[in-house]
Amino acid sequence: MLDHISSKLTAILIGVLAAPLASAQPKNVVFMIGDGMGPAQVEAAGMFTGTPMSFESLPYQGLVTTYAAGNPVTDSAAAATALATGQKVSNGVISLAIPGDSSELPTLLEHYQALGRDTGLVSTAYITHATPAAFAAHETSRNNKNQIAGDYLNQTKPKVMLGGGANGMSVAAAQLAGYTTVTDAAGMLALNTNTQPFVSGQFGTTHLPYEADGLGALPHLSQMTTTALDILDNDPDGFFLMVEAGRIDHAGHENNLARNIGETIEFSNTVQSVLDWAAGRSDTLVIVTADHETGGLNILADNGPGNLPTVSWSSTGHTAANVPVYAWGTHANQIRTVMNNTDFFDLITVSGLGGDLDNDGFVGITDLNLVLSNWNQTAESANPLADPTGDGFVGIEDLNQILGNWNAGTPPNSAANIPVPATSTVLLIASLAILRRRPGPRSL
Ligand SMILES: [Zn+2]
Repeated sequence: MLDHISSKLTAILIGVLAAPLASAQPKNVVFMIGDGMGPAQVEAAGMFTGTPMSFESLPYQGLVTTYAAGNPVTDSAAAATALATGQKVSNGVISLAIPGDSSELPTLLEHYQALGRDTGLVSTAYITHATPAAFAAHETSRNNKNQIAGDYLNQTKPKVMLGGGANGMSVAAAQLAGYTTVTDAAGMLALNTNTQPFVSGQFGTTHLPYEADGLGALPHLSQMTTTALDILDNDPDGFFLMVEAGRIDHAGHENNLARNIGETIEFSNTVQSVLDWAAGRSDTLVIVTADHETGGLNILADNGPGNLPTVSWSSTGHTAANVPVYAWGTHANQIRTVMNNTDFFDLITVSGLGGDLDNDGFVGITDLNLVLSNWNQTAESANPLADPTGDGFVGIEDLNQILGNWNAGTPPNSAANIPVPATSTVLLIASLAILRRRPGPRSL
């Protein structure tokens, strides 16, 4: 009798707790790139504001190598190609296998598009610039701006493209390709984002102005990003959005610290808007990283909030320094201490067996043990494998991934696995999960 009741209760509890078998691939991806943003650029902005940048609190962090094929110092084209396609190419190349057979390398944006999801590009550089280009075009040279615009409008067709104008892109060409066009902040903010328009925002005739100089009638990066999210999140299948703070790099080339810091702060504001949008979701990955460091920035003294720190610059070009990565959400727990810039493609696109936390091809007791032994811990102390939701906390959502996929896959060694959870175990886990549910909203 007791057995009968507990098995019924178990079934109910599993029904309540367990999500349906879900694809382990993130449904929504926001891939955010601070062009030229090394660790010192982040630190300098934090000294000026007196608080860390928003993304510095993300639960999973590491460093990323940046070298190009055949060159220890990368340009933005090769670096963005590595981030977008998982392949090293020569400097200047936009997502083609060079060196190699010159074939088109599929990008993350195209991967998500092939899954039927909406996509977007946002940048403070002109929209045909190297970083956005590597996600949605294929060209032998970043200088082929007319062809890059042609790839966008006729081949890839991202739903949203917001950035600086001209440089191969034009209002007439975008309209011909079916895009609604806007050319200033007011026009962009007046868009009805719920009608899911194809939007081309062409702001000015080059890069957006520096934040430190004022933007006039043109939009901030955070406004462009919020608009893109408002449009893309209408797609029930999910979306891929690339966001670039393109002008951290330009200020680095100029060795202009005030402009550099202004761009990094606006990037931090932009990441915060994305995190606000993503809060509470368990189907979204937010990656914040850089393509390379620019300027060889070295901090000599913190002069307190409101004052520029004392610094030195070793270069007016790019350096070979590693850049930081910060991540939150689905697959964020796969961020490594030091990773290659080619690692992101597989990290995002390879969907393992949902709930198979230890990656042994089977969802069972060893996965359950991983979550239990890290229960209630944060990313600072927990085994990252125990946090498949990547929110930096091992709790009920992580347990659900296991219960929802229980017994899936092939037991690697049937003697070592329990094919069906013992009623008492599941009851215990379920009760534990309910009782120890983390109180209050999760802060980021
Ligand atoms: Zn540069």
